Amino acid sequence: MNQSCRTEQLCNGQSPRDTVIADDTFLNMHRRHSILFFVTFVLTVASQTTTKADSIVSFKRGKATVNLDINEVPELKEWGTNAAGLALEWHPRICNLLATKDVTPPKTVTLRIIKSEKGIASTQGTTITVSSHWIEKHPEDIGLVIHELVHVIQGYPDGTPFWITEGIADYIRRAIFEGQPQDFFPIPRQDNAYLQGYNTAAGFLFWLESDRGPGIVKSLNSMARNGEYKDTLFVEKTGQPLEALWSEYAKEHSSNR
Ligand SMILES: [Zn+2]
Repeated sequence: MNQSCRTEQLCNGQSPRDTVIADDTFLNMHRRHSILFFVTFVLTVASQTTTKADSIVSFKRGKATVNLDINEVPELKEWGTNAAGLALEWHPRICNLLATKDVTPPKTVTLRIIKSEKGIASTQGTTITVSSHWIEKHPEDIGLVIHELVHVIQGYPDGTPFWITEGIADYIRRAIFEGQPQDFFPIPRQDNAYLQGYNTAAGFLFWLESDRGPGIVKSLNSMARNGEYKDTLFVEKTGQPLEALWSEYAKEHSSNR
């Protein structure tokens, strides 16, 4: 769950409805005309099916499926549809960013919007749950789906440091998906503030990637997935221990603001 995220104006929530270019009948007709068209279709098709009185809709694109459950809040169908489309679009990208040998991330994700007056979003296994009150107050915050989708794909075992899990989720959301610059990320005036996770850890990882240890996010992801995370990775990758790296990052970037 990401309660520390600032909300942003986002426009990447492409609706799956917008990406549906053909239904099966359409495909069959045109397959006869052109193999090229067929290949194009296979690469771009997204489709949807509806069950349970239109309250759970399955969206598919490539090998990924998002089951949108709006049983409790059918009025939020538009937001949910946009969020499902965004998740489908980013599922293969995040899988590639976090690819490790012999691990196949879940291909099916449930996106559940619940009627609730508290919380923002959370992920349990392959189910992302989003609270209705947050969407009603912050409909622009569709990027929260990227953060939660990272958790589905991470699949880290219990015991993985909180700041690694949440830092990578916000690094992908904020630095990669949103394209935020380094100075977007907060630097609290505390020792080892990266332990707070979220945007603070994400900014630290961003700096490490660009300045001290390119590829370090991929290494952290690999170690975390295998249940082998150790702080010594930072010395191996950068020549400096974790605490010293944070101090340097905080000193260098706090003075620029
Ligand atoms: Zn999170």
